[in-house]
Amino acid sequence: MQRNRFSGQSLSTAIFLFLTISLIPFFSLAKPAGELKVEPPFWWAGMKYNQLQLLVHGENISGLKAVINYPGVTIQDQVTVENPNYLFVNLLLDTEVQPGFFEIAFTLKGKTKISYRYEIKQRVAGSANRAGFTPADVVYLLMPDRFSNGDPSNDSMPGMLEKPDRTKPLGRHGGDIAGIRQHLDYLKDMGITTIWPNPLLENNNLRESYHGYAITDFYMVDPRFGTNEDYKLMVDEAHGKGLKVIMDMVFNHCGINHWFINDLPMKNWIHQFPEYTRSNFRSECITDPYGSEADRNRMLQGWFDKHMPDLDQRNPFLKEYLIQNSIWWIEYAGLDGIRLDTQPYPYREMITEWNQRVNLEYPDFNIVGEAWLQKESMTAYYQKDAIVGDGYNSGMYSVTDFPLYNAMTRAFTENEGWSEGMARLYYVLSQDFLYANPDHVLTFLDNHDLTRYYNSIGNDLPALKMALTFLLTTRGIPQIYYGTELLMDGNSGVNHGEIRKDFPGGWPGDSLNAFTSKGRNDKQNEVFNYMQKLLKWRKGNTAVTEGTLRHFIPENGIYTYFRKDGDQTVMVVINRNDQQKTVIMNRFAECTQGFSSGFDVIYGRSVSLGQEMSFPARSATVYELKK
Ligand code: CA
Repeated sequence: MQRNRFSGQSLSTAIFLFLTISLIPFFSLAKPAGELKVEPPFWWAGMKYNQLQLLVHGENISGLKAVINYPGVTIQDQVTVENPNYLFVNLLLDTEVQPGFFEIAFTLKGKTKISYRYEIKQRVAGSANRAGFTPADVVYLLMPDRFSNGDPSNDSMPGMLEKPDRTKPLGRHGGDIAGIRQHLDYLKDMGITTIWPNPLLENNNLRESYHGYAITDFYMVDPRFGTNEDYKLMVDEAHGKGLKVIMDMVFNHCGINHWFINDLPMKNWIHQFPEYTRSNFRSECITDPYGSEADRNRMLQGWFDKHMPDLDQRNPFLKEYLIQNSIWWIEYAGLDGIRLDTQPYPYREMITEWNQRVNLEYPDFNIVGEAWLQKESMTAYYQKDAIVGDGYNSGMYSVTDFPLYNAMTRAFTENEGWSEGMARLYYVLSQDFLYANPDHVLTFLDNHDLTRYYNSIGNDLPALKMALTFLLTTRGIPQIYYGTELLMDGNSGVNHGEIRKDFPGGWPGDSLNAFTSKGRNDKQNEVFNYMQKLLKWRKGNTAVTEGTLRHFIPENGIYTYFRKDGDQTVMVVINRNDQQKTVIMNRFAECTQGFSSGFDVIYGRSVSLGQEMSFPARSATVYELKK
C-alpha cells in the first residue's frame, strides 16, 4: 500500500479528535441493548492450538459471567477490560472435542441474561496439508472493484455508505466476486496459476472504499463484492480449475468506521495521539543500526491515514484477534496463501508469532509480505530465516522484491552502461547472497500502487516482451497485474484510478470485451499470446521453477542466463540492441557443454548450437537445450 494513496480523502481532524478524546475516559457509544457479537463467529474441532479467545461485544457484557456446558470445551478464564461492553472469554478445546452447537450463557447471579449459539465445525479432510504457493506459480493480482461486475444488483447495498459511480476514477465501479468467478477460465486459459485479489472484506467508508485497505469488518466480505459464501465458492471453483487463491490481509490498520473503533475495547487497541500523527513511512529506520527510538515509534505507531487507525499489535487481545482471524479465513475459505499488507509497519514480534501459529496448523502454507523497501539487504531482513540484521526471524516465506522492480523499470529502455540498462538486473541479482531464500521472493513489473509498467517504459512493446520474459524466467515467484495483457497504461502520479482502470468487457454493456481475442486489438493479442505461451510453458519447466540460475554479466546490450534442474537446461538471451547481434558462444561453455541444439520456446523451432549464434533485435530468446 502506498502512503499517499489517500491524499485526496480524509475525515476531518475535528472528527478524529472527537473520536480520540471521547474514547479515552468514557465508553458512551454502546451497541443497542440485546445485540451480541462474538468473534470468531465459529471455530473448528481438531486444530493443533487448543486455545480460543472469544471477543464478546454487548452492552455492559463485562458484568456477566460466561457459562458453557459442552463436552471438551472449558472456559479457562474471562477477562474484563476498560470498556464494559467487552468480555474476552478464553476457551480450552480438548483434542477430542466433537463438532456441534452449544450455548454460551452470559449469567448474573446464576441467571442467564443473554446467550449466544456457538458452533464448533468439522474441519475439511486434509485441511492441514494444503500446499501453499511456490516458485512454480504465477500470481495474477486483480482489483476486484475494477475487474468485472458479475452482479450489478449488489453495486449499491443498504447500509453501505458509498454508492457506485463509474465516472469517478476513485469511486466504486461495481466489480465483485461474481465477476471473478465468471472469468476463472480466462485466467486459467492465459496460464496463470494463482489469483491474488486486493482485499474483499467490508470497507464501509464514505469515499475510496473500492481499494479495500480500510477494513471495517475482519469477518465479513463487503456486501458489494458478495457474501462470505460467495468468497468460499470462488475459492472452491478456482481449486476445481487448478488455480490457487491468495487472500490480501491488513494487520497494520483498519478503517475508521470499523465497529470496534467506534467502541474501543481499550485505549491501547490502537495508537492514539493528542493530535493526528502520521507514520513517517520510513521503514528503513527499523533495520537502521543507528535508528532512533523516536523515528521507530513514529514509523510503527503513526497512522497511515486519517481514516486508518493504527492497530497496536503489542496488545495481547488484539494480537490474538488478528492471528485467529487469519486462521479462520484459511480454514473457512480454503486459502492457498496470504499476502500481508505493509509488513514493516505492524510490530515485528507479532509477525513472527503469527507465522508460527499459522504454520502450526498448516505447515506448508505460505505468506508473502509487502516489504516496500529500496535495498536488497532491507528486503532480505523481512524474509523467513533472514541471514542479515539483528537475528530477527519474521517467518515469512516470501517478500516483495522492490529492488528488482526498480531495476526492471529502467533495464529495458535506458541506454546500456556499466551500471545502467540490464546491468541494473545484474546488480540486484548479484546481491542474492543477502537472502535466506531468493527463489521465494515475489517479483513483479508493477502492482496496484505503481505506475503501470507499460507506461513507465514509454509504451514500448518490444521492451515489455523482454521484461515479461525476464520476469517469467529469472528466479522468484512472478506476479502479474491485471491488464498487463491488455497493455493498460496509467501513471500513479496522476491518481490511483489511472492504474486501476476497469477491465473492458467486465461490465454489462461494455463496447469491447477484452476477455476474448475478438475484443482485443492486434497489439493486445500480440502481448496476450506471448504471455500465454510463456506462462503455459513455464508451468511444466522445473529448470525455471526449481532450478539454479547462472548468469553472465550483460555485455554489448546482451544479457544471457541459464536455469538448470537435473537434465533440464534453459538458456535465455535478451538482446536490447536495435539490430540482430552475433554472440560468440564460447563464453557460455560451462552451461552449454554437452548440448547440441536448442528448442526455441517462443517460435517453436529447433536451432543448432554453433560457435557463433545470432539473436534478433530488441527481443528475448528462450531455448530449451537438447543433447
Ligand atoms: Ca457488482
